[in-house]
Amino acid sequence: MTAVPAAPTHWVVRMNHRNRSASWLIFVAVLSLHFLEHGYGPWTWGLMLLQFLVYPHAVYLRARHARDPLAAEIQNMLLDSFFFGLWAAALGFPLWIVYTLVICGCINMTAFRALKGVLQALACAAAGAVLVVAVDGWRFSPDTSLRVSALSMLCLSVYLVLFARDAHTRTVTLSTTRARLRQSEAALQGQLQAVQSLQAQLTEQAHRDPLTGLYNRRYLNAAMQREIDGCAREGATLALLLFDLDHFKQINDRFGHAAGDEVLCQIAALLQQSMRPSDICCRYGGEEFLLLLPGMALQTAVERAQALRQQVAQRRWLAEGQPVDVTLSVGVACAHDATIAPAALIALADRALYQAKAEGRNRVCVAGATPAAEAEGVSTTPMVPAA
Ligand code: GH3
Ligand code: MG
Ligand code: MG
Repeated sequence: MTAVPAAPTHWVVRMNHRNRSASWLIFVAVLSLHFLEHGYGPWTWGLMLLQFLVYPHAVYLRARHARDPLAAEIQNMLLDSFFFGLWAAALGFPLWIVYTLVICGCINMTAFRALKGVLQALACAAAGAVLVVAVDGWRFSPDTSLRVSALSMLCLSVYLVLFARDAHTRTVTLSTTRARLRQSEAALQGQLQAVQSLQAQLTEQAHRDPLTGLYNRRYLNAAMQREIDGCAREGATLALLLFDLDHFKQINDRFGHAAGDEVLCQIAALLQQSMRPSDICCRYGGEEFLLLLPGMALQTAVERAQALRQQVAQRRWLAEGQPVDVTLSVGVACAHDATIAPAALIALADRALYQAKAEGRNRVCVAGATPAAEAEGVSTTPMVPAA
């Protein structure tokens, strides 16, 4: 059987035990002198020793083993005041002795219950005094000798210094604990920020294509409906360009996969350079890219597609240090309102792209006729995608 470690004694119980034991010991000297001067009998002496030497340890044990040690210790403090009242009345209210006892009781209660504590301590002391007066009659001899008065002052001073020292110790402990808490909080904040930035990085990585750094299809799926709705709300159109590199397999076959990757990265960089801040560029598939152009009319989108196609076709491409021709085909489609589903818009562009391939590649095809496109000789496909 493992022994359960004993719970540490409540700090208030420990503090009061220490202060009671020390200051009440001096008070025994005060009362002893007073008793000698006034010739008190053995019963009074016995009760006094019981009260001021034994009682502090008895109430300490009571509070220490109580279910609620703090509540028990506050009861002890009120009991102290009650006994102080008893002694005050029994001795005929000797002024310095009564003052020392009552003020100690009040100060102690003030520390835990503020002014309410003072009233409670005074009430308990009054109850003790009334009890003695009721049983033993009224006695009043307030004078104490100079020696007793001086010793009372010493006793009160020792108690006050002990009390102040405890207050100082508590303040130092509290400020150290606060400083430690502040440090832990700062460390936690740092960890939280690290976790948040890691989360942001993970989210970003989950939305990016690792080869080109462009957004991936997962991001596109989430973004498309949002962009269609946004453009519809503003009464604007949303253009979509779908790019597919022509005969890209041949580049891989001739120069290797790594060279193919390099071309893909350069195409991605070229597309990104041409983007406005609101545009979204994705790697749609292996050698397929998709540009979402919010607020762009179909005709302007066709012009953008043509410009990009020409840029790619005219650029001097190198694969493994050897010149290579790279061209791409583009399908263009446009959403005019929120009635079109993202998949349907992509299907329109895909159909136009298919037509561009069928017509010989390195060209732009548009879903739905525009007069300017027709004037430029850009092929068009019907607005309804093939089933
Ligand atoms: P088409 O003009 O009809 O589009 O011909 P294509 O060769 O481009 O099309 P196809 O669909 O036959 O081949 C696509 C090629 O793209 C095959 C594949 O190896 C290559 N590809 C897909 N993803 C990657 C990639 O990440 N890196 C490299 N290097 N090649 C890729
Ligand atoms: Mg393809
Ligand atoms: Mg291709």
